[in-house]
Amino acid sequence: MPLHIETPLLESDPLSKTAGRRIWLKLDALQPPGSFKIRGIGAACEAYARQGRRRFISSSGGNAGIAVAYAGRKLSIPVVVVVPETTTERARALIREQGAELIVHGAAWHEANALAQSMLGEDDAFLHPFDDALLWQGHASLIDEVAGAGMKPDAVVLSVGGGGLFCGVVEGLRRNAWDDVPIITAETMGADALARSIAANERIALDAITSIATSLGARQVCAQAFALAGQHPVHPVVVSDEAALRACTRFLDDHRVLVEPACGASLAVVYDRSEVLDGFRNVLVVICGGVTADMAQFDRWRRRGAGA
Ligand SMILES: *Cc1c(COP(=O)(O)O)cnc(C)c1O
Repeated sequence: MPLHIETPLLESDPLSKTAGRRIWLKLDALQPPGSFKIRGIGAACEAYARQGRRRFISSSGGNAGIAVAYAGRKLSIPVVVVVPETTTERARALIREQGAELIVHGAAWHEANALAQSMLGEDDAFLHPFDDALLWQGHASLIDEVAGAGMKPDAVVLSVGGGGLFCGVVEGLRRNAWDDVPIITAETMGADALARSIAANERIALDAITSIATSLGARQVCAQAFALAGQHPVHPVVVSDEAALRACTRFLDDHRVLVEPACGASLAVVYDRSEVLDGFRNVLVVICGGVTADMAQFDRWRRRGAGA
C-alpha cells in the first residue's frame, strides 16, 4: 500500500464553462497530508526505509516537511524537521501534529538546512523537497492514475516551484507513451524561476522570492526540470499574486476546496482564460493543493491587497 491515495479525477462544470473547453481536475488537494507531495515523498521514504534508514530529516517548513512527517508516522520511523524562524505557527503545528520533532533554527532557510545537513548520520535519510529521482518517480503516479482512467488530455496545467512535480509529470507522461502532451507551467511573479530560465535559455537563480506563493519559492529550479523543459513541449505562464488569490477564492466557491496560492497559479490560467489554452479541448489541471494557508491567512492577504 503506497502512502498516497488515488485521488478523484473529475470534469469540472464551472471551470469548463469559464474556460470554454473541457477542464479536468486531478484533486491532489485531497491527499491525506493535503498536497501532491506525499506521492513522491511517500515513495522516497518507503525506498529509504527498505534500505534500512532509521530516521528521516527534512528542512522544509512547507508541504514537503508536512509530508515527510506524515510518511514517518505511517512507517513508524522518527522524523526531524528543521525550519527557520520565518515558518508560520500553522506550519509548525501541522508538523508537530504528525509527531515529528520540530527544530526552529536560523533567520533564513539556508541556516535551517545547514543544521539539518549537519545532523545527518549514516542511518539517516535526507528528504529533499523537489530534487530527488525517487520523488519524481512517485509523483509520476499521478499521470498513471489519469491514464488508468482512460482520459488522455491535450495539455496538462501544473504549478512549478523547484520543479519536482514537473519532473514527475514528464516522467509519468513518458512512461504512458504520452510524450506528445504539452505541459503548461504556472508560476507567480516573483517566484518565476522556470519561466525566466526558459526565456534566458539558461538555468537562472532569482535574487529573492517576492511572491506570496511560498510553496513555489525555490530561487532556482532543479537541473533536471530545466533539462526536461528543453526536451518536452512546455508553455510557461506567469500570473500575478492577485490572480492566484482570486482563483483560490473562485475555486473555493466552485468546488468547496481551499488551496494555496501556489495551486491558485494553475487555476488562474483557467479562470483568466489564458490564451495559452487556445486549441486545447481537454485540459488536465493538477490541483496540487497545499495546507499552509488557512482562511485567516487569506483574509490577511486580502486586507493587505496582496502583491498590489
Ligand atoms: C511544493 C508545491 C508546489 C511546487 O512543487 P515543486 O515540485 O517544488 O515544483 C506547488 N504547489 C504546492 C501546493 C506545493 O506544496
